[in-house]
Amino acid sequence: MRILVIEDERKIASFIQRGLKEEHYAVDIEADGEQGLFQAESNAYNLIVLDIMLPGKDGIFICRELRKRGLKVPILMLTARDALEDKVSGLDSGADDYLTKPFAFEEFLARVRSLLRRGEQQSSHLLRVLDLQLDQLAHRVHRGGVDIVLSSKEYALLEFLMLHKDQVVTRTMISEHVWNESFDSFTNVIDVHVKHLRDKVDKNFSVALIHTIRGTGYILSEHHP
Ligand code: CA
Repeated sequence: MRILVIEDERKIASFIQRGLKEEHYAVDIEADGEQGLFQAESNAYNLIVLDIMLPGKDGIFICRELRKRGLKVPILMLTARDALEDKVSGLDSGADDYLTKPFAFEEFLARVRSLLRRGEQQSSHLLRVLDLQLDQLAHRVHRGGVDIVLSSKEYALLEFLMLHKDQVVTRTMISEHVWNESFDSFTNVIDVHVKHLRDKVDKNFSVALIHTIRGTGYILSEHHP
């Protein structure tokens, strides 16, 4: 088990590092946000411990960026204050749990263990947005516990949108990546498939996930107005 700790307060970082090493985890420490983001993306970690206030890039930005790029590694956020807004924005940005500083090592360790267990269970072939889940191995999709049957093109389209969740994907991107072709007259075909996909994925649910960005393309997001 390899853990990345992005924390600029040296005392806390070494306190965490010492404790985790005693528990036989491999630990990497980064004090700078930008460098931490780079490390997180370049190595396969089982868990990331992420401070919010960091030089370079802050923890919220890093977390959001990692999720945007499809990394599903469990993230435990450290908040300096007991501020509600920090916790909310931390969880909103895609963190799995948070801990307020100062904390007892035993509590930290309990969170770490629980996140590592969770990370093992939800292995990386599951894409999730809100209650929508796509299993890349079984090629199955369900939302709110209901199985959704898709054609292979609809499935590929949904997978592409979910891999780029919260990002606008253009019709050109869709035609190139889902149809493996790029020609301009494709828009209509894409729109028809998106309509069918919406009927299946969004129609009977209270929160719509697939949204049209006029003149550009589409976005799959739970936060879109
Ligand atoms: Ca800090």
